[in-house]
Amino acid sequence: MRTVIVPEWLIDGTGAPPRTDYALAFDDSGRITAVGPAQEITAAENDAVVHAPGQTLLPGLINMHVHLSLASDNSPFVPYMEAHSDVALALRAVRNARASLEAGITTVRDCGARLTTVLDVREAQVSSLVPVARIVSCGWPLTISGGHMRPFGGEVDGEVGARHMVRRVISAGADFIKVAGSGGGTPGSISDQPSFLPDELQSIVRTAHGLGRRVTMHCTATAAVANAVAARVDSIEHGYFSVPGALFGFDDAVAEGLAESKIPVTPTLQVTRDMVEMAPSEADRELWRRRRDAQWEMIRRLHRAGVRLLVGSDAGWRYTRFNDLWRELEELVVCGLSPLEAIHGATGGAAAAIGRADEFGTLRPGLSADLLLARGNAANDVGSVANVDAVYLAGQRVTLAAGLV
Ligand SMILES: [Zn+2]
Repeated sequence: MRTVIVPEWLIDGTGAPPRTDYALAFDDSGRITAVGPAQEITAAENDAVVHAPGQTLLPGLINMHVHLSLASDNSPFVPYMEAHSDVALALRAVRNARASLEAGITTVRDCGARLTTVLDVREAQVSSLVPVARIVSCGWPLTISGGHMRPFGGEVDGEVGARHMVRRVISAGADFIKVAGSGGGTPGSISDQPSFLPDELQSIVRTAHGLGRRVTMHCTATAAVANAVAARVDSIEHGYFSVPGALFGFDDAVAEGLAESKIPVTPTLQVTRDMVEMAPSEADRELWRRRRDAQWEMIRRLHRAGVRLLVGSDAGWRYTRFNDLWRELEELVVCGLSPLEAIHGATGGAAAAIGRADEFGTLRPGLSADLLLARGNAANDVGSVANVDAVYLAGQRVTLAAGLV
């Protein structure tokens, strides 16, 4: 049996403008079989037909940066990790991957968990043990001794040590390698300084590439971004340009090198937006407003320089939830992207950045029928992807019952 969907607007995830009078069909294999003018995709007697006037059909969204095992409640990170067993973390991850799916996010890219907790959940999803979003996971991230995210278990130093750790993570089943290239929100780490030395980074990238895995690097310091470009990582998380003692340390030469390298950046602006709105004290909110203003300016400049931007929210971290990636899409529009550019960064552009463009991320025959139907014209108002009407993962319609956030 086929299902034919006839929306008002169809956005195919390639960056192309929305189509009207278009339809999409998929069959029981869970794969898209046809996309084209509605009059050419005529339904047979047994086909299910979904008419969706006033709605946009687009590929299921990809959240490029989440931490499925974290609780979105601004818990202090180190005590939280000490208080939770691996099983407790995995159960949390199941719940968060379900909340993502019901919000139209059919793939999440986990950028750090403790050891194999999220890899195990990924396997449970693949085996249909849990009805959650598809998971792409780094396993656990590499960090220097005392570095950012060390409670996840990836502290390592030296070229040889780093090589060992990359091999162990890949052997455990990691889809990609995550490396903390600067400090961050973990107490004791230094967010405005780079962490790994250039030789260590080169060892990580060479080892990972030799085993067919991509590397993404957390960078919240200008010097870390420069290191990432020099080491030829495959993508950058956050991409903030700070220098010791100053939130805003934009460097035009580093930005130009980044644009030339074609390395994409996932800015994760939502985590800051959420702190501006939800931090408990006015003094905190003011601090986060200053960070937000600096980040907006950096990301605007990166966009103008021609750096490719992808969509990830850092969900799990601080207050950021799993069901509202539209908030990140809106942040990128504030920074100068068109709604279509932003959607591309959460669909076809994201799938390409993780090497999965032949499986999902755009609407074309042969790809997984990962679909989102949302009320409104998403090409005019990107926030309308919040108005979820239907979600399909590999052609299976998702029951939108739990209302998880
Ligand atoms: Zn993160």
